[in-house]
Amino acid sequence: MTKDSNSNLFDNLAGFGLDNLDEISVYEEKEDPKKGIKDCVQVNPASFVYERKVDCPVCGRHIQVRAVKTSGVRILSKDSDFMVYYQEPNPSFYDAWLCTYCGYASLSNKFNTVSDKQKKLIRDNITPKWKFEKTYPHLYDVDTAIEIHQIALLNSIVKQAKDSEKAMICLKIAWLHRIKNNPEGENKFLNQAQQGFLKALEKEDFPVVGLDQASLQYLIGELYRRLSDPSNALLWFGRVLASRNATPKIKDMARTQKDLIYSTAQK
Ligand SMILES: [Zn+2]
Repeated sequence: MTKDSNSNLFDNLAGFGLDNLDEISVYEEKEDPKKGIKDCVQVNPASFVYERKVDCPVCGRHIQVRAVKTSGVRILSKDSDFMVYYQEPNPSFYDAWLCTYCGYASLSNKFNTVSDKQKKLIRDNITPKWKFEKTYPHLYDVDTAIEIHQIALLNSIVKQAKDSEKAMICLKIAWLHRIKNNPEGENKFLNQAQQGFLKALEKEDFPVVGLDQASLQYLIGELYRRLSDPSNALLWFGRVLASRNATPKIKDMARTQKDLIYSTAQK
């Protein structure tokens, strides 16, 4: 409705002292649905990233690592292999911490759980070769995140970490490649993750990387599906569906992905 048409509606009310009515609209204007989104985007993502002081358990130096304030974490969506999409700043970029002095790196939740034997392995096999001559930007880009996760993966191999820990780092690197829209890099690391989770399922006690048995079986099936191996994917989804201990939610997810394989095959 134009300004003129509004003023025509109320012209004659000026005598009642009711003036300045030409801006009034009879029907409430709907708020621009994009307004909220615009407001979110206008917040500077860098302001949610902060330097956190920790001690490196391998070399003992005081170091600074980066983390995202909880108030800055906004989940946008989730993928069928548990990957979470975030609004910037993406906390998954800061999941791995690196000591730039000695070359030790790990997923943040495992950073301090390193045994004396593992410290020695890192000091003997990584630190003597380690050179760090760069500066990371305050706000990591996906390539920086991939690089630090790869250093963490190398550390996990050197320190002879559990297969599940190595597989989890591989899965996170695959997700970072998905953000980068690099299917080749993604599949390379999904394949490593799938192999590691299979080994972990056979050898490790549950929960494995926070997952119960049925959830890990589902994840293995989903990784097979993403790696274009539908027969193995169906085998693992079938195990989830037959499991007595699987939650209704994980059974639903297995059923959805199983249906997806059949519907894709029919096309
Ligand atoms: Zn260190």
